[in-house]
Amino acid sequence: MQAAGKLIIFSAPSGSGKTTIVKELLKQFPQFEFSISATSRQPRGTEQNGIDYFFLSHEEFKQKVAADEFIEWEEVYNGTCYGTLKSEMTRIWEKGNVIIFDVDVMGGINLKHIFGDSACSIFIMPPSIEVLRQRLIGRGTDSMETIEKRVAKAGFELSKADEFDHVVVNDILEDAISQTQEIINDFLNK
Ligand code: ADP
Repeated sequence: MQAAGKLIIFSAPSGSGKTTIVKELLKQFPQFEFSISATSRQPRGTEQNGIDYFFLSHEEFKQKVAADEFIEWEEVYNGTCYGTLKSEMTRIWEKGNVIIFDVDVMGGINLKHIFGDSACSIFIMPPSIEVLRQRLIGRGTDSMETIEKRVAKAGFELSKADEFDHVVVNDILEDAISQTQEIINDFLNK
C-alpha cells in the first residue's frame, strides 16, 4: 500500500491517560480522524457498525484477509479478529486528514514498522505502576480483578516504550498535553 498521508499512533498501558490526552488533541487539530477498526465480534450495547467498528462475520473477515484488504490484523485468544482495513486509511487520507490510531502496544509497534517516516508513534507513560493502579481505581470503570490484570500487563507494555518515536510521561496532565502537541506540530511540519 502506498503511504498517501500521515498517521499518528498512540499506545499506552490502560489507565495511563491516553484517552484523556487524545480527546483534548482532537479539539485542537480538526484534521485528525480516528481509524475505525474491523472486528469479527458481535456489537455490544449501543455500538454501531461504521462508527465504533466495522462489524464483519468471521467468514467475511477471513475473506478480506485472503484478499489482502487489511494493513494489519490479529486474532485474539477467543478467536475474535481485529484489524485495520486499507480502504479505511485511504478514505481518511483522501479527505486530506491525518489518521489517528489508538491501539495496543504491539499494534502500535507494527504500524510504525509498516509506515516508517509517515508515522509518528507516541507512548503515553504513567509516572509509576502504583499511580496507574490508583488512576484505574479512580476511573471507576473496572472491577478490582480487571484492574489487577491491566496492572500486570503494564509491566510488559512499559518494557516496549523505547520502541516508540516519543515517550510522554503523563504526570501533570497539562504538561503531558502540551508536550504531545509540540511533538505533533513538529511531525506535521516536517
Ligand atoms: P487510558 O485511556 O490510558 O486507559 P484514561 O484517559 O481513561 O486512560 O485515564 C485514566 C484515569 O486517569 C481517568 O480517570 C483520568 O481522568 C485520569 N487521569 C488521566 N490523566 C491524569 C493525570 N495526568 N493526572 C491524574 N489523573 C489523570
